Amino acid sequence: MSIDINSLFHDLINALKLNLTGTELVSADEYLSKTRLENASGSGGEREHRILQPLWDLRLGREEYLRSPLFPVVLSVVFYFSFCTPFMIVDLFGRKWNWIQKFKIQNNLDVTWAQVYDTLSLTFWNHVLYILPAAIAQLVWTPPTPLPEIAPTLFEFIWQQVACLVIFDLQYYVWHWSHHRIRFLYKTIHGVHHRYHSPFCWVTQYLHPWELITVGFLTTTNSWFFNCHCLTTWSYMLLSIVVSVEAHIGFDFPFCMNNWFPFGLVGGAPKHDMHHLKPMTNFQPFFNHWDKLFNTFCPAMKAGGVKPPNLLEYERKQREAKKMN
Ligand SMILES: [Zn+2]
Ligand SMILES: [Zn+2]
Repeated sequence: MSIDINSLFHDLINALKLNLTGTELVSADEYLSKTRLENASGSGGEREHRILQPLWDLRLGREEYLRSPLFPVVLSVVFYFSFCTPFMIVDLFGRKWNWIQKFKIQNNLDVTWAQVYDTLSLTFWNHVLYILPAAIAQLVWTPPTPLPEIAPTLFEFIWQQVACLVIFDLQYYVWHWSHHRIRFLYKTIHGVHHRYHSPFCWVTQYLHPWELITVGFLTTTNSWFFNCHCLTTWSYMLLSIVVSVEAHIGFDFPFCMNNWFPFGLVGGAPKHDMHHLKPMTNFQPFFNHWDKLFNTFCPAMKAGGVKPPNLLEYERKQREAKKMN
């Protein structure tokens, strides 16, 4: 009896997608004829009202590359390395640039070449051993990405990305909490990420392969819940990278999201820096609400290593609780 791996894998992906979105995957031929039909019906007045249409029209002439299942992988990898590089330059060459160093959170610690080498080595091997084979599997087994003629509406583009981020934030909170509470999971998996108490950009993907696979799986499948337009999906992937790297840069820059979202909604680098210092607090990666609700929130240190009154009060209470025990 022979098993057709190709159709088995396709059926598995199909079942997953069908469960999440009610949308069935199609073969490459079905897809192309479907797209041709959508393209034919999508021309005309509707596209003129979409703010994102000029951006989406940049795809014209590049469809062959954009349709490839490899495109999202290449986009994410290239974006991750490009986005981290300026922060690495600041860490290694900007130690005397006071105008930038005044924003460093743990300002008593410098990033060394050895640390950069160590983090980049693990990142490189994770890419070679896990991301590359996953990308090749996608290339072989998944159909080309449908490229509709019409861009998503701006409203749809924004709310779907926010929704994906909010869902990921909860999923990771639960995963993260359990990987700290269960000693075995911490020691074998998540502890790898905690080798650095003072995070810098490359610590973002300094992960055990299982954590890397989990994060990649959750990020990819969350956009299936809403049957997102591919422009929305790709933008969400980049947004996830931006917020994850921002949480690890070790600087509290005025332009970071935690400084321009109101009501302390976003945690950002100060909050996640505190998680690396006090690992049993601040499990939520992007926002603060679940940490506050479940009493795992610890106030963050500010730029220049300044401890605000709420952090001093938190530490005083912790000391008192320890004495009582
Ligand atoms: Zn971290
Ligand atoms: Zn952790």
